Amino acid sequence: MSTFKTVALSALALTAAYSAVMAQGTPFDYHADNFADIEVLRYQVPDFDSLSLNQKRLVYYLTEAALWGRDILWDQNYKHNLEIRALLENLYQNYKGDRSTADFKAFEQYVKQVEFANGIHHHYSMDKFTPGFSQAWFEQAMATVDNKPVRAEILAVIFDPAVDAKRVNQAEGEDLILTSANNFYEGVTQQEVEDYYNALKNPADPTPVSYGLNTRVVKKNGKVTEQTYKLGGLYSDAIAHIVDNLTKAMAYAENDAQRLVIARLIDYYTTGDLATFDDYSIKWTEDTASQVDFINGFIESYGDPLGMTGSWESIVNFKNIPASHRTEVLSANAQWFENNSPVDPRFRKDEVKGVSAKVITAAILAGDAYPATPIGINLPNANWIRAAHGSKSVTLENITQAYDEASHGNGFNEEFVIDAPTRELLDKYLFITDNLHTDLHECLGHGSGRLLPGVDPDALKAHGSTLEEARADLFALYYLADPKLIELGLLDNPDAYQAEYYKYMLNGLMTQLMRIEPGKDIEEAHMRNRQLIARWAYEHGKKDKVVELTKRGGKTYVRINDYRALRDLFGQLLGEIQRIKSEGDYAAGADLVQRYAVKVDPKLHQEVLKRYSKLSIAPYKGFVNPVYEAVYDDNGNITNVKVTYGEGYMPQMLRYSKNYNGLGK
Ligand code: ZN
Repeated sequence: MSTFKTVALSALALTAAYSAVMAQGTPFDYHADNFADIEVLRYQVPDFDSLSLNQKRLVYYLTEAALWGRDILWDQNYKHNLEIRALLENLYQNYKGDRSTADFKAFEQYVKQVEFANGIHHHYSMDKFTPGFSQAWFEQAMATVDNKPVRAEILAVIFDPAVDAKRVNQAEGEDLILTSANNFYEGVTQQEVEDYYNALKNPADPTPVSYGLNTRVVKKNGKVTEQTYKLGGLYSDAIAHIVDNLTKAMAYAENDAQRLVIARLIDYYTTGDLATFDDYSIKWTEDTASQVDFINGFIESYGDPLGMTGSWESIVNFKNIPASHRTEVLSANAQWFENNSPVDPRFRKDEVKGVSAKVITAAILAGDAYPATPIGINLPNANWIRAAHGSKSVTLENITQAYDEASHGNGFNEEFVIDAPTRELLDKYLFITDNLHTDLHECLGHGSGRLLPGVDPDALKAHGSTLEEARADLFALYYLADPKLIELGLLDNPDAYQAEYYKYMLNGLMTQLMRIEPGKDIEEAHMRNRQLIARWAYEHGKKDKVVELTKRGGKTYVRINDYRALRDLFGQLLGEIQRIKSEGDYAAGADLVQRYAVKVDPKLHQEVLKRYSKLSIAPYKGFVNPVYEAVYDDNGNITNVKVTYGEGYMPQMLRYSKNYNGLGK
């Protein structure tokens, strides 16, 4: 709890989570499971009981709609995922042989990894998992629970490392479609896909739809064509369950605006029409009055090497009213931040519209947001909607709170942070500055700046995600150190930002490398972004020793000598990346990414892995969801919704697979 105790600011009202923990008396069990490089946590849903009965009904049906999309994501991730999951879960549940053997233990770990990744490729590195058990053992064990032998193609997928090795390949110069195992494309080359969309796109269209967002691209009779995810189209069965629950939820909408949002989403699922999706997105963005909110659909495109097709996800949430004060203050001052940002005035927005931001309590995480989940979300993604209608930005504070609580006393700071005063700084200010960083990133960073007229929003291509994340991070880093935050009452100490700066540089230069296997490059967009920023600032501040990597007792430490100069460097890089985005300067963007974001110093990497291994801290975390149980009266009306937290990791996965088998596979 120490992070809460040290945040003594009225603007940062203690989160309800804190009071809920205290009220319970017994400490909440944040740890659900541990395996491979994963730790699974639990999160609480404080104040659920303060919602009205109708709000609880609304949340309940939205959580059902969320869970019904799970198998869509599994199939999007890889075409054999659902078939493999069925085999693995059958063996896991019904195996009567010795469960204490090395083979079974390795099998159990593999099952847990696959469940966590929503498929057979790691959720972050995108590499296919390597089974620690033999094919002979697997076939023999499967024969005891299933009278059909496992298909040869499936055996090859599981055991041959060369088959579909990577879900999303970002390696420059390769055919990113042919070398990526995801199920967004079938039988088409990258060139064919690019040609197909270039023919559809009209560069003069000021309000382009998000091409390819809800489709699978295939070749039929030699012609490239799209299969649409919709009722009656691809994934129809699961979508029917989603629509059914959205329809039930609509009856309990908090107001007409929200009712219309749900209705438009149903229209979109029914027709697959992307202009309808845009209309839904606009109405969703403009509904800021409802306390309960949700996303449900094909949203983020990180799973597509071309950044077009959305992976299915859903998060249901409700506003944490006291904590939202923080983001409301930032939003109310959005124009000030835009006008003062360290970028060429030509690239600033004259008018920042409708940046709405709130702190939310997540009620359920689903699809691509489960079990690994983002801590901040900013939507919609369409550039023109953001420019004309603003965007909605949220911070999932019950999730960040769970991370924070679960990490206390894990030894990380003692091992990696350079000295006691810096550790103290982190103890005191990291929780609040980290939350503020997320707020600034999501509610101001992504929404800031503008493209020059005629610049293609996709001009940065494969580097677009990395550079966009860098832009939002830099905006947040730059302003964390601004006296404006003190003036607005969001921080009480002008040096507080140093906690986030230290953590950011430590993470970007060193500790995030623990997520990378020896010999590999950095591929994931957020990790590339963090290393890009940290390495660039380190290199450009080298002659003034702004940031140093110093050795002590054979160990490397990050030392920041001049925090103000580091802030200036962040400002300079923000100016450059904004220019690259505004002008669509692909060559400069690609150069930045290749120079700073991708390559890893092998010696430092080894050292980080070694020091980490002694701490037994999992590099990746995710969550099990709470369980919502509806209580019905004799007429089938919900009279109450109960929330409980005790469900284990595998029991939850198996329950979801059984009860929300949306595609019947
Ligand atoms: Zn972002």
